[in-house]
Amino acid sequence: MTDTLRRETLVAQAMGRIDAATRAVIAPIHVSTTFIRDADNQYSAGFVYGRPDNATVREAEAVLAMLEDAGAGALLFGSGMAAAIAVFAILDAGDHVLAPQIMYWALRHWLLTELTRRGVDVTFVAMDDVAAVAAAVQPGRTRLIWIETPGNPLWTITDVAAIAEIAHRADAKLAVDATVASPYHMQPLALGADFVMHAATKMLNGHSDVVAGVVAGARDDAHWQRIVTTRKLGGAILGPFEAFLLMRGMRTLFLRAAAQAGSAADLAARLVVHPMVAAVLYPGLETHPGHAIAARQMVNGFGSMLSIRVVGGAAHAIATAAAVRVWHRATSLGGVESLIEHRASIEGEGTPCPDDLLRLSVGIEHVEDLYADLAQALHGAAVASEV
Ligand SMILES: *Cc1c(COP(=O)(O)O)cnc(C)c1O
Repeated sequence: MTDTLRRETLVAQAMGRIDAATRAVIAPIHVSTTFIRDADNQYSAGFVYGRPDNATVREAEAVLAMLEDAGAGALLFGSGMAAAIAVFAILDAGDHVLAPQIMYWALRHWLLTELTRRGVDVTFVAMDDVAAVAAAVQPGRTRLIWIETPGNPLWTITDVAAIAEIAHRADAKLAVDATVASPYHMQPLALGADFVMHAATKMLNGHSDVVAGVVAGARDDAHWQRIVTTRKLGGAILGPFEAFLLMRGMRTLFLRAAAQAGSAADLAARLVVHPMVAAVLYPGLETHPGHAIAARQMVNGFGSMLSIRVVGGAAHAIATAAAVRVWHRATSLGGVESLIEHRASIEGEGTPCPDDLLRLSVGIEHVEDLYADLAQALHGAAVASEV
């Protein structure tokens, strides 16, 4: 039955599971850390202890595996970073990885500081340049290519299928950080990736009240088992309350993501012609360098993240963020409330992010309120700084 149902239906009903004991529509939260051993010394229910496994976490993982059509299943972690780092556990000292020049800042920092300490070499490549990626592969040494598309904070688009081909030709794996697209807009495993990772903190949960991460795998092989072991032995599993909240959030993923992408596209089109905006970075715009590839590999639109480069530089960008009343001046993304952030300030020294850039995470508020607020902030800041 579930084979013929659409993802919207399955996620809305959390796979249609009904609690056997109570007939509850919403599954109970399993908090027990330990389980009774059978008289014959077995654990016939399949649960032994709370660190490797939890029934509430499994419920959410089943939904995530369905959303990603993941042959190996999905694993939830205590954060997006913990999920990402677990993927790098497939590497050994002496291995080489390719990572994007434009990517989630904290992970880039971890690659540079922590992964290199383990004796793994990292090369940062412009992932939107397929020839450059192919040239950067070191045959016999490159074991993993990590991409992020759309990529923070310029929303750089990487061709998942093309990079998967390069990776597989070199006998390497491809992992995709698809946090921004969410499974509503993109299914990287179907495009040829081996692993897909999300900060479930963002679009998947959607309510800015859970920190969580997920990795889903295309097939259950030795590399997938390395990730399974890393979580199991390292104890990086998500807590049951967070898994429950995430499950509640995911039920409305398709509604939220559709509304947010619609408003983001609307705002992008209007901001392009705003006199105080020098550039709008949004993959849905035909002027975006990755638009054609995004149109091919994304569905239902182009996501809810865009950036604007403000006329008048960093001072005006910061003044604009200071002048908003409806948008929240905060980091993170993918929640129902819209956020604005001067991105260079949080990324700090050495960031490739332009200092006139404001990152916008579009929520579900009325789009006219969002536009009017941004327009008054851009205008007010311009008057104040006499741009
Ligand atoms: C937030 C984010 C992460 C990290 O997730 P956390 O849950 O904050 O650890 C990784 N990648 C992207 C694209 C993100 O936006």
